[in-house]
Amino acid sequence: MSIKPKLLFVGSHPDDLELGAGGLIKAAFAGNYSVGVVILTDVDDLAEANRRREEAISGLCHLGANPESIAFAAFRDGYLECNRRSVDLIRKTAHSVIDNPSVVITHTHADAHLDHIRAAELTIASFRKAAFLGFAIPNSLIISKYKPSLCVDVSISEDCKIESTMFHKSQVKIGRIDSNNIVRLHRAFTEVFNIKACETFDQTHLFENEESYNSIDYLVKDGVLNRSIDGIQDGRIF
Ligand SMILES: [Zn+2]
Repeated sequence: MSIKPKLLFVGSHPDDLELGAGGLIKAAFAGNYSVGVVILTDVDDLAEANRRREEAISGLCHLGANPESIAFAAFRDGYLECNRRSVDLIRKTAHSVIDNPSVVITHTHADAHLDHIRAAELTIASFRKAAFLGFAIPNSLIISKYKPSLCVDVSISEDCKIESTMFHKSQVKIGRIDSNNIVRLHRAFTEVFNIKACETFDQTHLFENEESYNSIDYLVKDGVLNRSIDGIQDGRIF
């Protein structure tokens, strides 16, 4: 087996990672992978921003994270911009929790929320040597554009993942988090993976970056990720 990959999770808002990648976060900490977590934005109101950070820390720790692995980049909610300063800040924030990540898990490009789209663009620009896994958020996923090729089997961990989202009480209260939508998304690709409950990811690799494919192979061989039954490997040329 090749070198154990180091995983960096990047979410736009404090609840995105539990919603989109809670199963993989749980599996990564349980499997003793090196893991860093970055949350990009805060709302303007300081008290509310602090409350939402605390909700995120509680939700992530419920999945097995430790608070030292979580960092906040403090971009302004709704105003993520693709520029040099943003790339530098994401790299610096990520560096405080992990060195040289080999797999970066962030929003899929098949998303309609402006901050999510920007997060996907910025994250790829910030870590060009890594393999990228794109996760789906129920409320803003563009289902017709989303072609996942990997998944985590959340048949057993689904309850824990849903519990972790419920720590975001401020978002549950206003109806932004709905466990029915999470469960529905887990079952939307059952036939693609032949797994009842799947947390899915699409893949982005840079041309001729064999190492990034090897990192994904490691996670598949280790039983963390499962491939789609048609075996599509997103254009591997090696
Ligand atoms: Zn979000």
